[in-house]
Amino acid sequence: MTAKKTPVKATVKYTRAQKAEPTLTLAQLRRLIAKERKIWEDDRALIQDLRNQQIEMAKYNGRCLTSADRHHAHEQATCTHKKAGTIRDLKHPRAEFLRGNGLQYAVLKHKFSHGDIWVRCLRCGKWWKPPIRSQYKLDRDFWRAMFDYEEAVNFPTNNIMSESIQLRFDQFNSKGGRVDGVEIVREKLANAAGY
Ligand SMILES: [Zn+2]
Repeated sequence: MTAKKTPVKATVKYTRAQKAEPTLTLAQLRRLIAKERKIWEDDRALIQDLRNQQIEMAKYNGRCLTSADRHHAHEQATCTHKKAGTIRDLKHPRAEFLRGNGLQYAVLKHKFSHGDIWVRCLRCGKWWKPPIRSQYKLDRDFWRAMFDYEEAVNFPTNNIMSESIQLRFDQFNSKGGRVDGVEIVREKLANAAGY
């Protein structure tokens, strides 16, 4: 004897919150959407304000840096890069400090292991480094920079040049000729190591 199957009724159970949820009228829905849209627009305006503030701050920082760079460049252009001199105005010694009038230059020279010499003024902080051809558009500018650099390397000074162990080497180019490897090192370091 088989038991008679009773059909199971599918009953949906609503939670209390679902039961309590009222149906929105079209007008209410419009108001709700308008409210949300207002919140969204306010948020967007706030984000835009913050972005504008950030842009203003970046511009301000940029102006400060440019002005500092200009001041630095001006100091380096007026510096004689020489030792000695007299400081009379002890409250504002900087200007006279940059007007050294000795025969010796106030520079440090260092010879790197690949043979390059870097020169630095101890008074204004200016660097002279071998110019890299790829960083100049015109030959004229490159050779002017080279002339300045050679001049700095030859500044007479009684400071002794420091140096590392020398590693000179050649490299073959595509035509089978040899090129000075230092040129390649310089190009590779163009954006690093302070070049
Ligand atoms: Zn200097």
